Amino acid sequence: LYVEHPLGPGQAVTLTRAQAHYLFGVMRLSSGSPVALFNGTDGEWRAEVVEAGKRGGTLECSEQTAPQTLPPDLWLCFAPIKKSRTDFIVEKSVEMGARRIVPMQTEFTNSERIRQDRLQAHAVEAAEQCRATYVPELAPLIRFDALLDQLSDRQILFCDEATADNTADNTETGAHGGPGDGAAPDAGWAILIGPEGGFAPAERAKLRALPNTHILSLGPRILRADTAAIAAMTLWQTRFGD
Ligand code: SAM
Repeated sequence: LYVEHPLGPGQAVTLTRAQAHYLFGVMRLSSGSPVALFNGTDGEWRAEVVEAGKRGGTLECSEQTAPQTLPPDLWLCFAPIKKSRTDFIVEKSVEMGARRIVPMQTEFTNSERIRQDRLQAHAVEAAEQCRATYVPELAPLIRFDALLDQLSDRQILFCDEATADNTADNTETGAHGGPGDGAAPDAGWAILIGPEGGFAPAERAKLRALPNTHILSLGPRILRADTAAIAAMTLWQTRFGD
């Protein structure tokens, strides 16, 4: 269970109403039941239910069961699509070990708004499910150009259905350190996945002109954005992940 609370030996943790509902109403835990807790900084802790109520409750930490780990410095940047598919991308990004999830507004992005709180809640659920000790940050929706400014010191993996280069070794842009050329990453990375309509010509041109862009094909077929996100993260993790 993810809690926004310090964790340590003997530390009491007060539950929110939603957490109490989940533990005691849904999972049917009661006084004395063990619960695994994490907060994103103190690793995973074993705790026990001390007080179980309908609207709240208290746990007490006993011992640390896993050290704190951070996923690799990988951002997954995507253009929000239909609600359920956006939820899916967020969930899979957490499972695949992205450190930051960045919804971006491109020229052909259909949705102008996202429910950041809802997506962050999905990220928490996914982290709990895959027993990560860290919940990636769900960034606010950002315009494509503003995002490029934030990516100036990162390696960009531009997933482009129009290239045949499946190594991202950058014969097209001249950037170094791609998954295909054997170099270890010396900076953070950002995977960019376009919307259903793809990136606009001007956006593609901007990406291609950057010295830190690696252009990557995910195969000869056009993948849906959610499939492309998983495929790209898998490729990146195969080369650089732990
Ligand atoms: N507008 C495009 C079209 O109809 O030709 C398709 C866009 S695709 C549904 C959404 C995004 O997934 C693309 O912008 C790209 O980032 C990524 N993508 C899909 N298939 C890909 C492939 N074979 N190689 C690399 N990226 C791909």
